[in-house]
Amino acid sequence: MKNWLIKKKSGLFCEPGNFYIDPIRPVDSALITHAHTDHARPNNKKILATKETINIMKIRYQDNYCKTKQQIKYGEKININGVHVKFVPAGHIIGSAQILLEYKGEKVIVSGDYKRRYDKTCQPFEINKCDTFITEATFALPVFNHPNDKIEVKKIIDSIKGNSDQVHLIGVYALGKCQRLICLLRDLGFDETIYLHGALLKISNYYETEEIDLGSLKNVTEIKDFKGGELVLCPPSALHDRWSQKFKNVIKGFVSGWMTIRQRIKQKNINLPIVISDHADWNELIDTVKEVSPENVLVTHGREEALLSFLKKKGYNCGSLNLLGFEDEDD
Ligand SMILES: [Zn+2]
Ligand SMILES: [Zn+2]
Repeated sequence: MKNWLIKKKSGLFCEPGNFYIDPIRPVDSALITHAHTDHARPNNKKILATKETINIMKIRYQDNYCKTKQQIKYGEKININGVHVKFVPAGHIIGSAQILLEYKGEKVIVSGDYKRRYDKTCQPFEINKCDTFITEATFALPVFNHPNDKIEVKKIIDSIKGNSDQVHLIGVYALGKCQRLICLLRDLGFDETIYLHGALLKISNYYETEEIDLGSLKNVTEIKDFKGGELVLCPPSALHDRWSQKFKNVIKGFVSGWMTIRQRIKQKNINLPIVISDHADWNELIDTVKEVSPENVLVTHGREEALLSFLKKKGYNCGSLNLLGFEDEDD
């Protein structure tokens, strides 16, 4: 990478533009790829992001999380001190973006988190050519080969049919995974009311204002007595806390790319592991690099080594960027 994009303590910094991308500490000026909390943090002076990212940050951090919030549309071009900036869809969650930077004829794409599978709740990943592609590596090992999401979701529906005396308590990430799962269930004809933990409701309601129809949803607190057969979604952390103890006869599920790993299923005591991820799997990472066909690839945010050694063999000029402060928690 040329000297105008630098890794600093607060994150990836664009020197001529004088802004950070997804900084991990408060800065004067930040470009935000998407609203997951490890990328979108409060208390920057100024942010530039899509409307959905700005709105979801407002829901999570209250209105005064940032003084100046500038919206940018997908495809819109902005010039910041001679750096041309454009946001294009990343296919990860609603409002998620890859950030395209062009300075003195050199193009860099900061892809943020991304996936390539169809997702009704967001716009699909857009391929753009560049000189340097910065890619995430959350699932960058050949063992990660995400299965078809419809087959996975059908497991939930079949389990509810076959175990109608039990409550199904399923852990999902509040932003993205929850709403994508609900859409997949609805598409397969599941039209029962779905009960949501309070932590999932606000964001799901926001999706509805963006005209993503989630069907009949209710707060778990609206029902006193679960008789069995109900589907309850909650954040993964709630699966084993005190809140979950009020459900007696339960089947516990978890919807995550990590459910490929047997050890994690055991560790988290999951009866119904469902492998659905909002990140690219191994083949999708490789295919994406091929399609973007950059000269240089920088890998960050996950299992970097395997992807780096593969890309090196294929002749890419590549290196590890290893930005800190990003977690696996939004898979
Ligand atoms: Zn994310
Ligand atoms: Zn992330």
